[in-house]
Amino acid sequence: MRKLTRIVLAYFVFTGLGSVDAFAQPIETIRVQQDLYLVGDRTYSCFYLTEEGVIVIDPLDSVHAAAAMDAIKKVTDKPVQYVFYSHNHWDHISGGQVFKEQGATVISHVEAAHHITPNPAVVLPDSTWQGEKATFTLGGKTLELYFYGRNHGDGMTVFRFPEYNAIFIVDLVVPDRVLYAYLPDASPKDWVEDLKKIQALAFDAVYMAHVRAVGDRRDVTRMQQYFDDLYAAVEKELNNGTPFFDIPTTVTLPQYKNLRNYEEWLPMNVWRILMEKTIGQ
Ligand SMILES: [Zn+2]
Repeated sequence: MRKLTRIVLAYFVFTGLGSVDAFAQPIETIRVQQDLYLVGDRTYSCFYLTEEGVIVIDPLDSVHAAAAMDAIKKVTDKPVQYVFYSHNHWDHISGGQVFKEQGATVISHVEAAHHITPNPAVVLPDSTWQGEKATFTLGGKTLELYFYGRNHGDGMTVFRFPEYNAIFIVDLVVPDRVLYAYLPDASPKDWVEDLKKIQALAFDAVYMAHVRAVGDRRDVTRMQQYFDDLYAAVEKELNNGTPFFDIPTTVTLPQYKNLRNYEEWLPMNVWRILMEKTIGQ
């Protein structure tokens, strides 16, 4: 009994410290272009000012959405008119209600809307777009939307700002880190093909949702290169006849050892590619 109590207490102490740490990082607003802002701490959303109102890309969760709304109010009196969802994953879209309550319309690609797993915290889109490319205009500004099919998740949209020759790319490119854990919900072979197509777009600046918000074309190229090297390393072990269950702990990619989560997640990255290569999914 005594032992159990200690464990429970330790748990509360641990989560208490965790919460303090989580709040220690303030949400920052980065003005990356004249009318374009990123807002977040380690995860960023984006807002774009126009003459008729504000366009938000990804509400993230409700705490972030409220902080983003405060940040928007500091730079404009115009209302948030539209909120775009980048894709179907809860961590990017569960704060939509904050903006909807103030009159915003929520938009996503139709494939994102069809593949959101039900969650009471997630507001479904009011409206969807379809096809591979769309152009959205508001208040004298133009936003280009690109869809390449299933890759990191479903309905993934790459946002291009022709005014700045820049793109906002969510989760498809996460700089300075290995791929996220076991790549949940992803189709890696499509992901890497789509990274090649994305590089054919015109852009200089790249804005991203995780780890480091601001980058350039090299971040997209590096992400593709990591995939290429990961595939090659897994194929090499398969060809060498390395016992299947030993492959995730055998593969090393020393050129990437300085990336975040290299030790923890590289074996999971390998598992994901192994599964795709051996069961086709
Ligand atoms: Zn995602």
